[in-house]
Parts: sequence; C-alpha cells; structure tokens
Amino acid sequence: MPLRFFNTYSREVEEFQPRDAASRKIDMYTCGPTVYSRAHIGNFRAYIFEDLLQRHLELRGYEVHRVMNITDVDDKTIHGAREAGVPLSKFTAQFKQAFFEDIETLRIKRADEFPAATDQRYIDRMIAMIGALISRGLAYQAEDKSVYFRINKFPDYGKLAHFDLTQLQSTGRVKHDEYDKEHIGDFALWKAWDEEDGEVGWESPWGRGRPGWHIECSAMATTLLGDQIDIHCGGVDNIFPHHEAEIAQSEGVTGKEFVRYWLHCAHLLVDGQKMSKSLGNFYTLPDLLEKGYTGPEIRYALMRVHYRTPLNFTWEGMDEARESLSRIDNWLERLRECSAGVQLAKLDKRQVGNLPHTFEEALDDDLNISAALGFLFETIRETNRAMDRKEFDAAKASAWLNWWNRINTVLDLEAETAELPAEIAKLAEARTQARLAKDFQTSDKLRDKIAALGWEVRDTKDGQKITRRAGEPA
Ligand code: AMP
Ligand code: ZN
Repeated sequence: MPLRFFNTYSREVEEFQPRDAASRKIDMYTCGPTVYSRAHIGNFRAYIFEDLLQRHLELRGYEVHRVMNITDVDDKTIHGAREAGVPLSKFTAQFKQAFFEDIETLRIKRADEFPAATDQRYIDRMIAMIGALISRGLAYQAEDKSVYFRINKFPDYGKLAHFDLTQLQSTGRVKHDEYDKEHIGDFALWKAWDEEDGEVGWESPWGRGRPGWHIECSAMATTLLGDQIDIHCGGVDNIFPHHEAEIAQSEGVTGKEFVRYWLHCAHLLVDGQKMSKSLGNFYTLPDLLEKGYTGPEIRYALMRVHYRTPLNFTWEGMDEARESLSRIDNWLERLRECSAGVQLAKLDKRQVGNLPHTFEEALDDDLNISAALGFLFETIRETNRAMDRKEFDAAKASAWLNWWNRINTVLDLEAETAELPAEIAKLAEARTQARLAKDFQTSDKLRDKIAALGWEVRDTKDGQKITRRAGEPA
C-alpha cells in the first residue's frame, strides 16, 4: 500500500509521491522552538508527531533529510531578554540547551541540522530574499522604515489557510509576528530598529533592523534544502499566518512550488483549550519528570492519538500511558524468557511463519497510530494467551521479538534497563527473601519503605517489578 498523508494545502488525503522517487531521498522542514522559555509538552506533541513521521518514512525505506530551525530572534525573545536584563544570545542559550535536553529525554530523533535564525549566514539570505521581493514589486519599505510583503500582489496568499482574501477586510500593515484573519494585512519582512530592540539589530539596505519571524524560516529552509521541499510540518496554529507567509516569501523569490505536502498536527489541550504559554495552562517536561513519569511514558502519552485529533492532557492519560508501557515491558520479558536466546537468523522461515505488517500498514494510512497501537495490544493479548497455554515455542517468541524490534524503530518505547539505586535494590532483595519465607508483614513494610523513597513495587507472576512512582496530580 502506498503512503498517504492529509495535505493541508488540498485538504485531502493524498498518495505520497516525493520529488525524487528514484533516490528515495526526502527533504523535510519542521518549525522548531522559539527559545524565549522552556518548551511545554504541547510543543512536544508537535515534535513527537514529526518524529513519528520521520521514523515511519525511514522504516519504509526513505532517507529523510530533516531541518528544524531554532527561532532565537523575534518579538518574544527580544521582549524576554529585555525583561531579564541580559543580552539576547545569553537569554536564548539557556532555552536552546533545555530544548536539546528535552528532546533527548523524549527520544525525539535529532534533525540533521538545527539552524539558528541569528546565524549571519541566514541573516544574509533573509536580506537577499527581501531585496528580491522588493525588486519584483512584492514588498515595499513603508514610512515607518520597515519592509512589508504586499499580499495583494501574491494571488495565492490565503490558499493554505483556505481564506478568501476578497471576503476579508485588510487592516493595512501588521508589524508584529502573529495575526489572524480579523487583522489580515501586509506582514513585516524586516522590522526597522526601535528602542525596544536595544542591542539587537543588523545593518541592511533599509537601515538597521531585524527580520520578521516568517522570513527566517523561508531563508533557513531554502538555504539548507533548496527551493523545493517534500514535507513541511508544524502545529495547526502555524498554518496562518506563519506558513502562509513562508509560501508567499519563498515562492515570491523562487517562482517554484515551495512545498509538496503540508502536514499539521492538532493541539494538545487542557480542559478543551490549547495548552499554551499565554494561557498559563501548561506543563514542561521537568514538571512531569518531577511527578515521577519517565521520558518514554510521556512520549507514549503524546503519541498515542492520531495527529489530526486534538488530545486532551489528563493525569489519567499519563497513568494509562504508564500502564500500557508496563504491559509492553512484561510481554517483552515473557517473550525473552520463552525465546531462550534462540537466534532468529538460525531459524527456518517455516518455523516462524509470516508475521503480519498490519502495524506499518496502519501508519501508511496517514500515520494512523491509534490503529497501529490497537494492533500491537491485540497481538500482546493473543500471544500472552498462547504463552499461558504453553502453545508458544522459542522460534515463535523469537520471531515476535524480531517483529517488535522492527516496529520499535518507530515507537522507541522500550523501558530503559536502568539500574536500581543500591538502597532500593537492597530493600527489594530483602523483600524477595521475606516473600519466599512467607513473611508478608515484613514484605509489606518493605514495600512501604520503598514507596516512601519514590518507587513502586508490583507483584507479578514473574516476581516483583519496581518502577519509579508517579507523584500525585497537582
Ligand atoms: P512555538 O515555539 O510557539 O513556535 O511552537 C513550536 C511548535 O509547537 C509549533 O509547531 C507549534 O505549532 C506547536 N505547538 C504549540 N502549542 C501546541 C499545542 N498546545 N499542541 C500541539 N502543538 C503545539
Ligand atoms: Zn517556521
């Protein structure tokens, strides 16, 4: 089955045809963090969706070249640096570092490049692009000395967001980076320096100033990936004006179709509202780690619902994620025991049978992760039953482990085999001895002691399992 994705541009599920089908190489651009604060887990829903997309494309044999930009100069970062009373680069450095720590915890694959907007190479490209737009009549310098994109000279403006510009009232020009269709207008490409910018600014043919947010992405994307790219992603809030503006700027300069497939993920919500910094209803990754949840549990919680369906963040959802991962881990443990180290490579194909590709096929269908996970858990149920009935042999167990290894290149959810801290390990061993001696009073006391240290003990038919304990919801 061919891969199919919902393209925001056409509003249809389309068969995926990369530009260069023969080489199987794909260029992908994903809008990265604006480093004015620590990213919240809503942002990470978008990055995990992009990670899932990249990993599935790779599983299907594509070679993905991915760029994720870092927005380290815009209205918000400048405002933040001024409030903190530190230079812009110092202010953003701490959030860049935090971002890299967080993606590692969540096992998000690193992009091939993480260009930063303030790199002189890209500033030069932004200035060159703005110059080209002016020479084509698509941009102009206004009395306030800033340069704006002339939206009524670009007939396709509004096509990505499906806005009919003739129906909308223009409000003239908009200097700040974000606006909606109620305030539609020419957007800023180059913002003339003003006092609020302090030290921040670059010389340009239009005087000292700084780039608008949208031109940053057009410049970084076309510098690193060329005039045309296969896939461009972001959250739905990026569609307008950000991605609409990226199309106008890039196509205005190159005259070529900028992006073949636009993919956008729905928001992570809290009580029905978008999780966002401005609403103050957000959690960061450290907030969740402090409550005892692990990186893979958070990854799973943010990944498990189809990317175009809004996902409500709840603590019950986090606990379900923990439960699901522990089912996977217990299943893997049983399979490993049952396989008794049999090497699949040494087995005859007939001993193993053909394992289904249902998981991958669900992902081929516009990344239907819910169906893919549904199949995984059904498989776990069925193979567990077969193992209970002793109808499973080492060859079969080994084949399913192999299957898991294949799908886990996409999921990346296996628990870390982290060593227990020495103190916990000692208590755990004492508890095992107490249970063997049927001294359940001591065993319960030890469980409480372990719990007080932040670890949870569960007794399974394969012995006790110890995991970090989730804290109580705030
Ligand atoms: P920002 O740092 O605000 O530019 O956002 C970075 C990425 O996170 C963008 O792709 C946004 O669309 C996405 N994003 C922001 N808030 C949410 C949310 N609540 N749920 C999903 N994605 C989000
Ligand atoms: Zn962008």
